[in-house]
This record gives sequence, C-alpha cells and structure tokens, in this order.
Amino acid sequence: MANQTLGLESNLYQYFQQVSVREAEVLKELREETKKQPMAIMQIAPEQGQFMALLVQLMGAKKTLDIGVFTGYSALVVALALPADGQVIACDVDEETTQIAQQFWEKAGVAHKIDLRIAPALETLDQLIAEGQSNSFDFAFIDADKSNYNNYYEKALWLVKPGGLIAIDNVLWSGRVADTDVKDNRTQKIRNFNQKLHQDPRIVISMLPLADGLTLALKK
Ligand code: CA
Repeated sequence: MANQTLGLESNLYQYFQQVSVREAEVLKELREETKKQPMAIMQIAPEQGQFMALLVQLMGAKKTLDIGVFTGYSALVVALALPADGQVIACDVDEETTQIAQQFWEKAGVAHKIDLRIAPALETLDQLIAEGQSNSFDFAFIDADKSNYNNYYEKALWLVKPGGLIAIDNVLWSGRVADTDVKDNRTQKIRNFNQKLHQDPRIVISMLPLADGLTLALKK
C-alpha cells in the first residue's frame, strides 16, 4: 500500500504536488492528526483526494458512498465538494478511527452531509439495496479490506445509477500486483479483481496510476 503517487522520483513528486495540490487547511490538519495513527499509510494521497473532489463536481454528484472511512479524509474531501444538499453514506467498522473522522467533519462544517454507518460495509450496502436505493448513487469510493473488493464492487454497481462512477483504490498495490514473486492472498485478490474489471462489459473503465492506483468504473 502506498499513500503517494507511485513511480515519480521525489523531486518530481514534490514539484507535482507544489504546482497542483490545493489542500484545504482542515484537510491538512486531518493529515497531521492521522500521522499519529499506526496505519497512517491507509490515508489517501492529497492529489487523489483533490482529483476525486474534481470528479464529484464535474459529475454534479449529490449522493455518494464511502466504503472504508479510516480517519475520514476521502469522505471529507468529497463532502466539501458536494452541494449543500449532498450526501455521503460512509461505511466502516472501526469506532476509534471514525471518532477522528467525525471530529474533523464537524470542524469542516460538513458533518450534516455525512451519514456514518458503523457496521460491516456489506451489511450496510445490502440494507441500502433492500431499502430500494439501487440505481440512485452518483459516486462510490471503495477503499476497504481488499479481500472483499469484489463484493463491494458488485454491491456498488447495484447502487450507482447508470452513468454513475465507482472509484477503487490501491489497484496497483505498491507495484506488487506486477511482481510475479508476490503470491499472498491480498495481492492475488487485487490481481483477480483488476482482471475481472478489465473484461467487465457492464462498465467503461480507466485505471489511473495516481497515488497507489485508482480504477474508475463508469456504470453503463
Ligand atoms: Ca487506500
């Protein structure tokens, strides 16, 4: 897992960030707070957050899903980009890291846009489907346990509307997906997932080498 764009040497990466990233103060503060966490590397890169915010604005998205909240950066950056009546349904099982998330959502003045569901994300997604919310979401971001990526993707594909977008994080997995010596279960799951999406006729796909690899899947 990497939380900066792979493959750019550090000078170029620094330059790239200097001339492109406009990170709100509250997002910078959340990044600083998250550095104290043992799993700080799970936080998305600022250039990725900014790109997702741009996508959400470009689409005119209103209703979104955040699958895997951690300390809340992705939900926050999307919520800040949504209109006043926009909504993020945020799924996570961790009550401690999501405490930090909620604190920063409050601070940023967007807590009212974010509906945090503390439960296994598959349960929350099933519940949304059971409530008749299929084909109603504009955007979904998948960044939770890799072993369930395929399941999250299948549920998200039900929940987003045709023309809606699913963004999936860590698809290049620090480059390990391309290293044939790496055979662990999580890496293999990501490889299988990437191969499946490449062939999936239900979507239009673009995989970006941004941060740790971000696949965009547009539902037909
Ligand atoms: Ca991630």
